[in-house]
Amino acid sequence: MEDPRDALGEALAAVADTLRHHRALGLTEVALHRPEPPDASVALTEQERALQGCTLCKLCQSRKTIVFGSGNPKAKLVVIGEGPGEEEDKQGKPFVGRAGQLLTKMLAAVKFDRERDCYICNVVKCHPERNRNPEPDEVAACNPFLLAQLDALQPAVILALGNFAAQTLLGTRDGITKLRGRAYIYRDIVLVPTFHPAFLLRNPGDQYKRMAWDDLKLARREWERLTTGTT
Ligand code: URA
Repeated sequence: MEDPRDALGEALAAVADTLRHHRALGLTEVALHRPEPPDASVALTEQERALQGCTLCKLCQSRKTIVFGSGNPKAKLVVIGEGPGEEEDKQGKPFVGRAGQLLTKMLAAVKFDRERDCYICNVVKCHPERNRNPEPDEVAACNPFLLAQLDALQPAVILALGNFAAQTLLGTRDGITKLRGRAYIYRDIVLVPTFHPAFLLRNPGDQYKRMAWDDLKLARREWERLTTGTT
């Protein structure tokens, strides 16, 4: 067996070589502490402030409030919906209407506390009148804000709710019934698509409920795998 003193000597010689190499490259100091990553909460507050009064798309004409997002900025699960509904437009918070109440229950069913474990936002931040789907120019105008949110949050898992969010994020026209049931990688983040709670309210049969339950369990497993190293 190798003498541990020889091994230590070799390791120290390698460190010395590396430091000499860095000095030759012009490095004069070695930081002993990594700089703290930027604080997500500060970044999100700044982003929300910068978004106030946004007129980048026509949704600004009918909205009451910009619904930026809410939840724990340290959360490793980000839930993404389509766009604020009427109630969200009034209150300025995502998923606070009937669909939101169901979403809270769905998350709780797999032991995610909405406020503690999640950050919730939408593809577009302003309410499209009569709950129509956001149009491509509106999605394009809002996309940099969603990307900046994700950069600040650095989630491990995204739960994409419904056709619109899943198709927009994954860049596909496949429907949610085809997309759901598995995980994807989106910008280095595990993305799990599932049914929108508003769809589940309109289609209360067991068939969709069971599929949503499977998706939520998948999201939970991925979250556990990525945040605690266990499956
Ligand atoms: N539906 C969505 O997609 N988002 C909300 O915030 C509310 C309802």
